[in-house]
Amino acid sequence: MKKIIIIGAGFGGIAAAALLARDGHDVTVVEKNDQPGGRAIVWNEKGFVFDMGPSWYLMPDVFEQFFALFNKKPEDYYKLIRLNPAYRVFFDKDEIVDISPDLEKNLQLFERYQKGGREQLKKYLQAAEYQYTIAMKEFIYKEYRHLWDFFSLRLLLKGSKLHIFTSLDRYAQRYITDQKLRKILEYTMVFLGGTPFDTPALYSLMSHVDFNLGVWYPDGGFGALARGFQRLAVEQGVKFEFNTEVEKIIVKNGSVTGVKTSKGETSADLIIANADYPYVEMNLLEPTYQTYPKEYWEKKAIAPSALLMYLGVKGKIKSFAHHNLYFATDWEKHFQTIFHEPSWPENPSYYVSCPSKSDATVAPADDENLFILVPVAAGLEDTPQVRERYFNQIINHLELLTGENIKDRIIVKRLFAHKDFTQYYHAYKGTALGLAHTLGQTAIFRCSHQSKKVKGLYYTGHYTHPGIGVPMVVISSQIIAEQLRSSP
Ligand SMILES: Cc1cc2nc3c(=O)[nH]c(=O)nc-3n(C[C@H](O)[C@H](O)[C@H](O)COP(=O)(O)OP(=O)(O)OC[C@H]3O[C@@H](n4cnc5c(N)ncnc54)[C@H](O)[C@@H]3O)c2cc1C
Repeated sequence: MKKIIIIGAGFGGIAAAALLARDGHDVTVVEKNDQPGGRAIVWNEKGFVFDMGPSWYLMPDVFEQFFALFNKKPEDYYKLIRLNPAYRVFFDKDEIVDISPDLEKNLQLFERYQKGGREQLKKYLQAAEYQYTIAMKEFIYKEYRHLWDFFSLRLLLKGSKLHIFTSLDRYAQRYITDQKLRKILEYTMVFLGGTPFDTPALYSLMSHVDFNLGVWYPDGGFGALARGFQRLAVEQGVKFEFNTEVEKIIVKNGSVTGVKTSKGETSADLIIANADYPYVEMNLLEPTYQTYPKEYWEKKAIAPSALLMYLGVKGKIKSFAHHNLYFATDWEKHFQTIFHEPSWPENPSYYVSCPSKSDATVAPADDENLFILVPVAAGLEDTPQVRERYFNQIINHLELLTGENIKDRIIVKRLFAHKDFTQYYHAYKGTALGLAHTLGQTAIFRCSHQSKKVKGLYYTGHYTHPGIGVPMVVISSQIIAEQLRSSP
């Protein structure tokens, strides 16, 4: 039995804690904030309950697989609702389409926009399903320690079908010529902190996730999901210390011996850092123990930050579904400002979540809970003036799109961007999502699960393989737990 300290109570941290406690270790999670869930923190104000981070529950199979490791089911901890429509897309004021849980309806939609689109979508989804199945079996759950692992013979043989070396946009064009439909197939790349122009086409598997596996909602929101994960961990014997910040990882003779926290020193045989990787390396370790020093991070493609707006609105907004996406006509320009020419976008695409459409507990009766997300480059200058300007621009635009009055009905308002990401989560450059999923930052090229300089120091979470998103960080922890089981 080892004494293990986990730094951070994000989903990655809690999943690792539960798995390692299940294996008989003495596990404590130390979290600087006052609640579980990491970026899935919750803010309560005047009867509104805001999920401040993730809102799309995707890949239900991953959660099932995780809970099965404890002989449990997700339903033992939270209730799931399949959303209908899965989401609503606003191309313009008079051009609004719904993506349905019913595939037939989506096929009809594609046929309406592109002659032959029905068959093309079918083929695209068949390929996406194949890619998903192979990726899950041979790629996602795997630990990569050597280059050879990545370019293993099997993968190379399958490489052509997995489309690792083509961009998603180029790949999608082979099937879908209509630009609006392509946006529907490509928008999920923002979830991966990338663009369809830079992300490997392998990630077209996200369309299988989106269209076939469905878009779900944990009743009570992601706060309820985080509490469900925490309950599972506590049942395994995990202890949680909230409002406790780790200030230093103590290393002696190249091995971890404990941590110094805001409340004192604690010894440990193993440490698993779930906190943002660059922060841990650059701030909690002496330079000689940093596998990835400052210069490394400066060269990396950092995933976007976001300007978030949490709004409590008096009365209902008829035009919204639970998830709503607005795709600007020139969305390439917006992507350009996120990655290649970091700057605030002129005419951004954005996302509006309205969970009060499915969940009566997140807003006072007959009112609406809105969460607006504008993806923007990490590292931008974030001032109250800029935030306010975008707030006005987006709300005016939303009123135009929906034809409904929103601004005058806002009774709760909070804006959140780079500075808050850094203050809340120690996020490098204020990133919301960590490390982008470019080809050069996939699998073995992501940050290592194990420190190369310090014995007993491991990392889980969105900087590591397989990457960004709640299901991905849960898998990241499964990989570590498996590794520790097989070679403790
Ligand atoms: C706005 C937004 C929307 C998103 N939407 C979705 C979505 O719809 N679906 C989806 O699946 N994913 C979504 N994601 C991505 C997803 O939330 C993340 O990939 C995932 O939650 C990251 O989990 P993690 O465990 O790696 O890290 P985190 O959740 O960041 O957890 C790390 C924890 O470490 C703590 N910490 C940091 N430093 C210290 C320290 N020194 N001492 C103690 N504790 C420390 C932090 O406070 C934090 O709680 C979204 C993310 C954001 C920000």
